[in-house]
Amino acid sequence: APAPPAARHLFSDPAEVEALRRNLLAWYDRCKRDLPWRALAEMEPDADRRGYAVWVSEIMLQQTQVATVIDYYNRWMQKWPTLQALAQASLEEVNELWAGLGYYSRGKRLQEAARKVVSELAGQMPRTAEDLQKLLPGVGRYTAGAIASISYGQATGVVDGNVIRVLCRLRCIGADSSSPSVIDRLWDMANVLVDRSRPGDFNQALMELGATVCVPKAPLCGECPVKQHCQAWRRKLFGKPPPVSDVEDCGVGDCSLCPPATEPWDSSLGVTNFPRKAAKKPPRAMRTATCVLERRGCHGAPEYLIVQRPSSGLLAGLWEFPSLPLAQDLQEEKEREELADHLQAWMGRPVAAKGLQFIGEVIHIFSHIHQTYVVFSLHLDGDVTLDPALSPSRWVTEEEFHASAVSTAMKKV
Ligand code: SF4
Repeated sequence: APAPPAARHLFSDPAEVEALRRNLLAWYDRCKRDLPWRALAEMEPDADRRGYAVWVSEIMLQQTQVATVIDYYNRWMQKWPTLQALAQASLEEVNELWAGLGYYSRGKRLQEAARKVVSELAGQMPRTAEDLQKLLPGVGRYTAGAIASISYGQATGVVDGNVIRVLCRLRCIGADSSSPSVIDRLWDMANVLVDRSRPGDFNQALMELGATVCVPKAPLCGECPVKQHCQAWRRKLFGKPPPVSDVEDCGVGDCSLCPPATEPWDSSLGVTNFPRKAAKKPPRAMRTATCVLERRGCHGAPEYLIVQRPSSGLLAGLWEFPSLPLAQDLQEEKEREELADHLQAWMGRPVAAKGLQFIGEVIHIFSHIHQTYVVFSLHLDGDVTLDPALSPSRWVTEEEFHASAVSTAMKKV
């Protein structure tokens, strides 16, 4: 079992906790950004509608920047202002609105959960973090804590990437911040710190601090409202860990939250010594051949064939040009032949590999995959009969293509 953390890493002084809450909330009241989900949560008197508004924003904000989310959020809330409205939407409509936001299973699960609330919970959102996490698909510990504190006033903490960074700096936590034992400690801390009378504002303030002041690369410590509580800041100023009265210093290698003895404090990094993470695995390289099949539509405008991906896995249910994963290191000629065979299965007639025109390569980085699309095009004379036994497919104009549920990667193609 890991050694218990030394008290220097914890928030054990109630007077300090009180002062930190006060300073952080005063700063939040002065400096918070105007964001549409905040305005909705503050103005909406109905608790279920408030919960829904926060829930949608939290799901969209997972893995996506605030600036990108705003437009999607506004369009979503206009189209489906309540979870009852969302429950009636089709998955195709959800995917179309979500197109370009990435991590597509988020939209799908949001809609599944809305249906569940309507059909199994009499349209009422669960009100506590525990129930939200237990009952709603796609709602993890963080999202549950955010909804419960912001919408329903439950005094429960939250831990996301911003909070991890702020807490690790406030308390000089240098052990691997992605390890389950450190994450558990950070949740304990967030639950100790959260303000009992304004839990939603406190949680948003802590995340806002991480997003705007205590940023990853060049934190604005001089402007930070909690710098007097920050051990990393004091350590940078004084060049050594701050003294903690009545508490023994952490012994090297003996504390579960200190940096490993092999990676001590690096004074050139200052507060950005924290947090630390174990090195990430490099993304897996994948190559996919894809073909833009073009025909003349009935009004003479070009049309393109798109096909639907399977309903599970990467980019589930989205539409794409006919595509085929390739083995690495194939010669271009071989890639062309394999794609021609694949297209033949679609069209029910031979496709000459030589007829495929190589256009170029498109690289798209998914979180864990470095994807290279090898793009070909093929112009068809006359009509083709697509095999109805294969995945759903349809011909679209360029305009219809952009309005369809297609990924950013396909738009690049
Ligand atoms: Fe972050 Fe600097 Fe504030 Fe510490 S003083 S919490 S490192 S911004």
